[in-house]
Amino acid sequence: MELVNEFDLKKIEETTKEYLSKLDLQKLINESADKRERIMFIEGPPTLNGEPHAGHLRGRVFKDLWYRFNTLDSKNVIFNAGWDTQGLPVELQAEKELGIKNGKSEISTPLQIENLVAECKKIVSKFHKKWVDVDEKLGMSFNQENAYWTYNDEYIEREWQLLKHAHENGILTEGYRVVAYCPSCQTSLSHSEVNQGYEIVKDPSLYYKVKLLDEDAYSIVWTTMPFTLVTDAMIGFNPDEEYVYVSVDNETWIIGKIRLEEFMKEIRVENYKVLKTVNGSEFEGKKYIHPLLDIVPGLDKLSKQKNYHITIAEKFVDVNTGTGIVHLSPANGEDDYNIAMKRKVEIFSPIDDEVKFTEDAGKYAGMFVRDADEKIVEDIKEKNALVRIGKIKHKYPLCWRSKHKLVWLTRREYFYMLDRLDNKAIDAAQNVEYFFEQPKNRFLEIIKEKHPWCISRERFWGCPLPIWSCTECENKERLFSRKEIIEMADELPDGPDFELHRPWIDRITIKCKKCAAKMQREEFVLDTWHNSGAAPFASLSDDEYKKTIPAPFFTEGIDQTRGWAYTLLIENVIFNNKGISPYNSFLFQGHVLDEKGNKMSKSTGNVLDASELLSKYPVDLTRFYFMWKSSPIETLNFSTKELVSRPYQILSTLFHIHLYFKQNSEYDKFDISQTTIDWAKNKGLLDHVDVWLLSKLQKTIQMCTESNKNCKFHESAKAIEDFLINSLSQIYIPMTKQQLWDDDETKKDKRHAIYAILANALKNLDVLIHPFSPFTSEYLYQTIFDHKESILLELWPKPVSSLINESIEESFDLMIDVVSVSAAARMKAKLKRRWPLNQAIICVEKGEHKKIELLSDLLRSQLNVEECKIIELENHVGIAELLEMKKAGLPVIAKVELERKGIGPKAKQHMGKLLEIFASTDPEEIVENLDKNGSFTFDVDGNKISLDNDDFIVDFDIQEGFAYSKRNNLIGVISTTRNEELMAKGLVKDLARRLQSLRKERGYNPTDVLNTAFLPVIC
Ligand SMILES: [Zn+2]
Ligand SMILES: [Zn+2]
Repeated sequence: MELVNEFDLKKIEETTKEYLSKLDLQKLINESADKRERIMFIEGPPTLNGEPHAGHLRGRVFKDLWYRFNTLDSKNVIFNAGWDTQGLPVELQAEKELGIKNGKSEISTPLQIENLVAECKKIVSKFHKKWVDVDEKLGMSFNQENAYWTYNDEYIEREWQLLKHAHENGILTEGYRVVAYCPSCQTSLSHSEVNQGYEIVKDPSLYYKVKLLDEDAYSIVWTTMPFTLVTDAMIGFNPDEEYVYVSVDNETWIIGKIRLEEFMKEIRVENYKVLKTVNGSEFEGKKYIHPLLDIVPGLDKLSKQKNYHITIAEKFVDVNTGTGIVHLSPANGEDDYNIAMKRKVEIFSPIDDEVKFTEDAGKYAGMFVRDADEKIVEDIKEKNALVRIGKIKHKYPLCWRSKHKLVWLTRREYFYMLDRLDNKAIDAAQNVEYFFEQPKNRFLEIIKEKHPWCISRERFWGCPLPIWSCTECENKERLFSRKEIIEMADELPDGPDFELHRPWIDRITIKCKKCAAKMQREEFVLDTWHNSGAAPFASLSDDEYKKTIPAPFFTEGIDQTRGWAYTLLIENVIFNNKGISPYNSFLFQGHVLDEKGNKMSKSTGNVLDASELLSKYPVDLTRFYFMWKSSPIETLNFSTKELVSRPYQILSTLFHIHLYFKQNSEYDKFDISQTTIDWAKNKGLLDHVDVWLLSKLQKTIQMCTESNKNCKFHESAKAIEDFLINSLSQIYIPMTKQQLWDDDETKKDKRHAIYAILANALKNLDVLIHPFSPFTSEYLYQTIFDHKESILLELWPKPVSSLINESIEESFDLMIDVVSVSAAARMKAKLKRRWPLNQAIICVEKGEHKKIELLSDLLRSQLNVEECKIIELENHVGIAELLEMKKAGLPVIAKVELERKGIGPKAKQHMGKLLEIFASTDPEEIVENLDKNGSFTFDVDGNKISLDNDDFIVDFDIQEGFAYSKRNNLIGVISTTRNEELMAKGLVKDLARRLQSLRKERGYNPTDVLNTAFLPVIC
């Protein structure tokens, strides 16, 4: 590759890709003696049901940055891609493609399932191409050939091994439990999935009356799901709270005492009378009459049981909402179900897979339960049991895929009973490094919930549950490998190599060992999160798993706190039956929002397609911007305008300094491999500015190393920016430029010392910035340094402690401030920086003279003055400062004002006249008196008015012929008068500058020697 003069990031990207395509980089890394430590990375697999967008890019850059940093840091990282391919997201997409409108009910025959599965595979393959294309564009280092696929038979068999361990450890159970169920997707969801989908929704707010059998009183019950009246079994009171009997019209109502007033207001009843107050505990065991018994035959039958339709006192009842009285529907609520189990109350669940009522629900049979709400309210009204029906807005879980309101149903499912893990999962989670506090705490809280994990799904495209159950007896067979299935199978309709998916696996029946009847597979597939969470084990061989897991680092979006991060950890703990996490550290990443901070979504139309973005904008710029802009944990407002501003300037500066170095050093026949910093140091060629830059460089290396290790990638990027722009480009190069352009043969060594420093700084910068911007850094490295076939084969730099010089850095910091404050003084006087001036006087704090004296020559040239005086000042305000400055010989004059507020009582009626006299008094005279006597006396028509120090505001001003500027306690004074000689020098500099820009315009290198220059002179 050749370094070209024109800076074009897209061209650099192309050239570098072309170069890299001819290298077998992994082979070179494997052969490198420097990259010996093999570490594993497990990719958080993207679901292949959509195209990558800008939001995905950020996450991928984190991963690739980590890979490149570790590769440079002597590791050989196993960095395989991975693809999430199964589960609801893909299945729903396939339904759409196949034109299936009524969801699951249209898919029942094996052929229909086969079609669905084929469509799923088609979708996965289509989006896989798009993702790989984007990965290539982005410069992702993934090994795509070794990618893992969650739907591969090998992967599925490995996942079964995990399930086997869960079974052997007693974690896997099967049974009836209340689960959240999506009526649209027709499948149950896990607790984690439910918690991802809470939104504010509108629901009915129903108050209804329930007559107690043995009392002339009604309990007023509140519910937001009227359909649950069909599965009603008990009415709950809180035993520790008070309830009141209230007379309303001719009836007696029972209501929670705390809610009484609010409730009456809500139902707009003004006339009521409290009859008595009783404890909730007194309601234990009172029979009540359900208002809809004659409509729901199944319920009518159950109500004859002794423990059915009775009031109970249970602590879970919340007295702060509704009426403080709730009804319990064990078929539709988790607390309700648990209490029914405890009290041995039969569960009445007349609801089918489509979440429609069955015949047992009488007139509601065939209705989708939530559609029955309205009908039930009507019937309640007809039975004269309605108190009030209204609307309520509350938080309610929606399906994370289809956005339908979830329903709680009692169903037979398979569960991981996480409470049986004791504290193993928490122990595992606590030993992980999360880099940031906030996601850590949230994650630990979630792990502590230990809620049963429902792992079975009533769907088609997923890892099938390898459990067969007898059609006649209770017997179950768990076959956790293809081999076991083949051995047990009655026959193999698709041969021994059948695909481990539905419908093929469903076709395999086995004979029951207990009763010889037919056994059929349980028609469940596994939760897709179980599928991806198995990756550390399922995507590796036993040997690889043993050697490389726990892996050092995983990362995914913050939305995976309840998703992948969680299932990974739980499954690994179950597999090992020990508190071992599969990752030693986990970085949760913030999301990408649009420019204005809004969520990117298809409906808003603000989604940025990743492929388009990377075609339009330079990849290195995009990558750098993503990392530089915000901390990994924070959300990032993505703006293409911002993308092309500062990040562009950074990469452009990097490029141009390389070019500057190359052009100058080649002209001077500098040999990178021969001339080193040590050589320069030993020859005593290092000036202060050289020492300073090298010290700054070591600090930058230190900062980048620590920041990358702690996932503070933005700080690493900012450290590079600071060194490159503020130190190298704005100070070092301008300060050394003159020396480089001096052709004198005797000064050649010094010039070579500067080249050695530039070479060292640039090469280190290339390595430091490589994980952020791989193409530009590779290009610059190859065209200038060319030591190894790829910059990735380089070693991450280590700061050289002998090159760190704190005192020189302090001096420079001060000098930079001095130059800046003096520049402000020049601005005031409208004197350009390149015009030489006679004199500068700099006032610094006590003790700082020494620091800056070290750099006095440099300072003089930076200030562009013939002479520079440094003065230390102890005082920084008022008269003390003024006097100290005068004493030190500074060209200052006194500036005095009256402190108006304080002098009123002293001046009284003479104020007007006093102000007049003050205006014509010489400030120097006032200051002199204040200094001598601590006061100044005005004679106002014979009245002596004496004012002291506090009555004056004293400051300094500058004499004519000077200008000054003050910042904090730093003052820069410059002389503004210029004699002919100074003017002439200024003119020459102006001329030189114009010639330079003309050369640039005409395309000459700074080192090209031109024959002629014409200087028209206007006389
Ligand atoms: Zn759904
Ligand atoms: Zn059997």
